[in-house]
Amino acid sequence: MSAAALDGNITLPGVFGPLKGANGNARITGPCGDTMEFWVKIQDERILRCTFTTDGCSDSVACGTAACTLASGAPESVAFSLEPADVLALIPGLAEESKHCALLAITTLRAAISDYRKNHCPPEACSSCEKKCSSRKETTSPVQTAPNGLSRVKHKIVVLSGKGGVGKSTVAAHLALSLSAKGFNVGLLDADLHGPSIPTLFNLSGTHAEMFGDTIEPVRAGGVKLMSTGFMLEHPDQAVIARGPMKIKIIEQMLKEVNWGDLDYLITDCPPGTGDEPLSVCQLIGSPDGAVIVTTPQEIAAADVRKSVQFCRKIDLPILGILENMSGYTCPKCGETVHLFGKDGGFKTAEKYNIAFLGRIPIDPNVGICGDAGQSFLQKHSGSAAAQAFETAVEQIGVAVRGSFS
Ligand code: ADP
Repeated sequence: MSAAALDGNITLPGVFGPLKGANGNARITGPCGDTMEFWVKIQDERILRCTFTTDGCSDSVACGTAACTLASGAPESVAFSLEPADVLALIPGLAEESKHCALLAITTLRAAISDYRKNHCPPEACSSCEKKCSSRKETTSPVQTAPNGLSRVKHKIVVLSGKGGVGKSTVAAHLALSLSAKGFNVGLLDADLHGPSIPTLFNLSGTHAEMFGDTIEPVRAGGVKLMSTGFMLEHPDQAVIARGPMKIKIIEQMLKEVNWGDLDYLITDCPPGTGDEPLSVCQLIGSPDGAVIVTTPQEIAAADVRKSVQFCRKIDLPILGILENMSGYTCPKCGETVHLFGKDGGFKTAEKYNIAFLGRIPIDPNVGICGDAGQSFLQKHSGSAAAQAFETAVEQIGVAVRGSFS
């Protein structure tokens, strides 16, 4: 296809033109008369690269570029489920009469993926097939090797929870601060795109991360390098509106394009559940050391923890332990302990699945007060039972990761 019909004054993007080694290809002419052609290179169920051509106008080039950008690096199934709206979200202000270009780009991209699928066996066929083909699924872990921005990170720990509000971000922040206080170089990535709490916990709401060329500088506080979508918003109350593929792109950007530099530990605070974001973090971060699963003692929370355990096992992610947070409140006046959220849910789950139990952190109103004020609870209330339980959990995580943190 020639680019002669393109507007004379636009610069063609790097994803324009046929792709060497492509294993999926499709060409479609839309009702407007424009033709688009897409090439994809798919390996291990992921789009390694995606390119396109079009004989349409500059809006058509913009839509093709956006579709390629979203698809490149994404799991094949995610790229296939991209919608024209995802493309349009990357091109604000596109004229109404050009919106069909987004539909043509997505339709052609999907057709190229379908072309790949047609020529490759379904994964379940591999178990009974002796053929050595490139699509054959090897039994490697779905966890990938480390991307560039993380090449100098020694240990990676992800903090997971089955449900929200159990104290996962609080635990991630305390783990990072405690390790930093022990003299380690620590980074903390807030992968909770829709509800980033790390800026608040570090008293940094409204702070913006700075860009130097193509690199994003992490924000620094308490000796910890921090990154969060909260540092990319114009205003702290602004909402991150993104779905599947865009969320994966944002996470990828926070992993690859942030200047993490030399780190002993990168702690990642994942959003609750077992959906796109935790999966993307675990797959894109490259060989994490393991996951800390946070729960409350309640049965309903523990039931969700069991899903997190299955999630980790499915993607071969080692579980460093289960931490039971908000585990009882001891009245400072009479000394009686009340189990507001039940008892032993996390402990019993750890026992049942033969997973290390990292301990019980009691409810302490000062945890919330310090969190809201962006102060370090560990420093301000170091003698409290909750602070000691946090420190014991950190020591245990250290033993699980590398023998000891001390
Ligand atoms: P998640 O990340 O799981 O949504 P957060 O870390 O944001 O949960 O915690 C939810 C709320 O509970 C916050 O207000 C936090 O300060 C409070 N919190 C967490 N752990 C404790 C605790 N042990 N005692 C008292 N409040 C806690």
